[in-house]
Amino acid sequence: MQKHYRTCNICEALCGIEITHEGENIISIKGDKKDPLSRGHICPKAVALQDFYFDEDRLRSPLKKTADGFKEISWNEALDFTVAKIKEVQSKYGDNAVATFLGNPNAHNVGNLLFMRPFIKALKTKSRFSASTVDQMPHHVAALHMLGHSILNPVPDLDRTNFLLVMGGNPLVSNGSMMASPDIGKRLRSIQERGGKIVVIDPRKTETAKKADEHLFIKPESDAVLLLAMIHVLIEENKIRLNHLKDHVTGLEEIKKLAKKYTPEKAENLTGIKAEKIRSLTLEMVAADKAVLYSRMGLSTQTFGGLCIWLSNIFNILNGNYDKEGGMMFPRPAIDPISFSPKKGRPKHKSIPVSRVRKLPKYLGETPSASLADEIETEGEGQIKALVCIAGNPVLSVPNGKRLEKAFEKLDFIVCSDIYLTETSKHADIIFPATSGLETSQYDITFLNLAIRNIAKYSPALFPKKGNVKHDWEILAALTARLKGQENSGQSPEMLIDMALHMGHYAKEGLSLEKLKAHPHGIDLGPLTSCLKDRLQTDDDTVRLAPQVFLDDLKRLDESIQNKTLNDDFPFQMIGRRLLRQHNTWTHNSHRLSKGRNECTLLINPKDAERKDISSGEYILVKSRVGEINVEAEVTDEIMEGVLSLPQGFGASKKSKMKVAAAQNSVSINDLTDDMRVDALTGNAALNGVHVDISK
Ligand code: SF4
Repeated sequence: MQKHYRTCNICEALCGIEITHEGENIISIKGDKKDPLSRGHICPKAVALQDFYFDEDRLRSPLKKTADGFKEISWNEALDFTVAKIKEVQSKYGDNAVATFLGNPNAHNVGNLLFMRPFIKALKTKSRFSASTVDQMPHHVAALHMLGHSILNPVPDLDRTNFLLVMGGNPLVSNGSMMASPDIGKRLRSIQERGGKIVVIDPRKTETAKKADEHLFIKPESDAVLLLAMIHVLIEENKIRLNHLKDHVTGLEEIKKLAKKYTPEKAENLTGIKAEKIRSLTLEMVAADKAVLYSRMGLSTQTFGGLCIWLSNIFNILNGNYDKEGGMMFPRPAIDPISFSPKKGRPKHKSIPVSRVRKLPKYLGETPSASLADEIETEGEGQIKALVCIAGNPVLSVPNGKRLEKAFEKLDFIVCSDIYLTETSKHADIIFPATSGLETSQYDITFLNLAIRNIAKYSPALFPKKGNVKHDWEILAALTARLKGQENSGQSPEMLIDMALHMGHYAKEGLSLEKLKAHPHGIDLGPLTSCLKDRLQTDDDTVRLAPQVFLDDLKRLDESIQNKTLNDDFPFQMIGRRLLRQHNTWTHNSHRLSKGRNECTLLINPKDAERKDISSGEYILVKSRVGEINVEAEVTDEIMEGVLSLPQGFGASKKSKMKVAAAQNSVSINDLTDDMRVDALTGNAALNGVHVDISK
């Protein structure tokens, strides 16, 4: 019997796990008590890692679509055919006619991260799409304009704060998002045990809200107004504290000017939160000294996502809790993605590039995924004719998935790399079968840059590849070599990890891959420290409070406030929700994660249910501008009146192991979300606040 230690790479929490096994026979999967970040915590998904390894529904050989369905082919044939088709499309229609779509698992897979860049470079396409623009792009846009680099994102110092305000996030279920904070339950309890306070503002009384000291309902998409009112209170009460950033901040006068008109009284009607509550909450955060506002998905995936994240940063900065213990802080990761960027002083472009069809902003070189169907359907130079999809399922994860699915039929060629035949990969001409978590080695480059404590950890693969599969990085390297007409570079993730560690912040202390291998539980590099002044990437080394793009976008907010009318056709607003036992679109085939009661339900407030004569357990029709679904109703006062909530990630078609009930109940929220609703400032999809109607 052996023990294997690794980091679970399903989500951003980075939990350390201890796997006891006898060869391929897994005896147990438990939390690794010696992991310096997760301290023994895991969630049910970690135990399911074995399900994805053994799953009989996994793809085990490269597939090619034929008139008689998919047929197994050799790797060489699959890779050669793919590159020939890519070259054919590009020579006929231009380089940008081949698009890439990268799903969320790429961010959790070190091989993909390291080998993706050379692949995209070899592909020479500017038609790049990813899960980032249906999730967190507003965070990157705020970081870019305020701090000079899109991935210089702060995280709440949960272990030392005395006041945590959560807006649009549910960390008890996510274990942190845009922050790696495993063992979150204990961490939140500790805030309360040391006399601190947790407040949650959300249109749903989330799992986190139930454990918080206070929960306030807020009308969907009014968060920017609330944040402006809170900033107004800070200024009105003369409570601005810039502390050590005093000489490193520009734009304060503009903020003072603009916040004047957004009084708590004005915000009361728009948000549903009383003016006096807005004042007292703000002043409580001032008094708490170590206080932090954490804003997440509900704020970033709405029509004012960019404004919300910008204003959240401003609130933390003006309240003296930025780059300071107990406030928002910046990790100092052992492999620092920022150090690979060439120079300070971004954004370089005077104007942000825009997409071909809808002229949406392209940040990080990415066209908003909400516009992928437009770019396929609209003729002209740059029209997309082929798609390379790596670990993504945009039919389920992008708004108006049904339209996208139809658009895929117009493409000349689709190639996917996936572990399953999915709603997206079933449209592919070639599918590369990829390895899953237990077959890969891991060093989390993305999320150690968002961890609430500095650590470094490397995990080797536990099992050999099962079947005729390859690692995504091997597929990317093979495609890159063929596209360039060169030999494979022969590099491995381990070589690149070691090289990056030697260039990193802890190289002087001797941090190397060898050292990490000798410490299978990970190495604790200590609590977060004040380091923004060293890490700022703006030309003048200042934090820019008032970048013009945000000031301009306030006009859009004002117009929406003035023109707010009731939508008679679609009187409800729908929000998403995340579940503990599922992760995005790909974990539903695990029996242990899908068993039990149907979780794909639409939450409805009792007053709305009464008006519509709807009871819990009934299947009801939900309609939006783009589509309709039938879903089980769940009547609960945990959701605000006028708001409905449906979980994200469902809609996977039945596979042989999927429980019949789970498959039948599974509907995709993105059959309702509207691809025309985006945050105009960042191009991020507005998945929350979608206008819908319901009927019996
Ligand atoms: S929270 Fe769950 S899925 Fe996420 S890393 Fe931890 S064990 Fe894995």
